[in-house]
Amino acid sequence: MKHMSPTKKPAKDSAPVPAPKKQEVTKVEGPSYIKGELCPFCNKKTLALMESEMDIPYFGKAYIFSMDCENPECGYHKADVESAEEGRGSAKYTLEIDSEEDMKIRVVKSSSATIKIPHIGSIEPGEAANGYVTNVEGILQRMKKQIERLRDDSEDEDDKKKAKNMLKKLTRVMWGQEKLKITLEDPNGNSAIISPKAVKGK
Ligand SMILES: [Zn+2]
Repeated sequence: MKHMSPTKKPAKDSAPVPAPKKQEVTKVEGPSYIKGELCPFCNKKTLALMESEMDIPYFGKAYIFSMDCENPECGYHKADVESAEEGRGSAKYTLEIDSEEDMKIRVVKSSSATIKIPHIGSIEPGEAANGYVTNVEGILQRMKKQIERLRDDSEDEDDKKKAKNMLKKLTRVMWGQEKLKITLEDPNGNSAIISPKAVKGK
């Protein structure tokens, strides 16, 4: 699943399993699947549930869930990530991105997290929000998609122009040609930016 391990290639069945590297997200348990559950959106028994427990370096153990409706006319999708450690307080992280290397910094983002990029946009929490394990590049790609939608839907030329400039800026940031600050806040503490460069606050 792409949200579980964005950089890992699928292992061949015959190949020996390599020892997990310290930096990699490793599986603790699962994934376990349940199929044929009732979908709350299309009311057909086509919902597939997945749950696994992963060990995320410098974050700890976390549960990763997803729900996918296999009815192609519905396509309901919901995913989330939750820390397996109890009593994690609220989390706030600030990261200054200034190189291409920073694209690889891992980000754990639960459905209760808010990610903000000043003057560009935000990823908001809520019922419809998904949780996932990704990296900075994955967050910027999502932000780009949001802005592309704004650009395509807007009737206003100024808004279109603004969106185009934001997209240019994000591309330059991805190439390490421009700096960018991102903040992540999660009142439930199920999220993190995992890097010594990230400044943690309360
Ligand atoms: Zn459905």
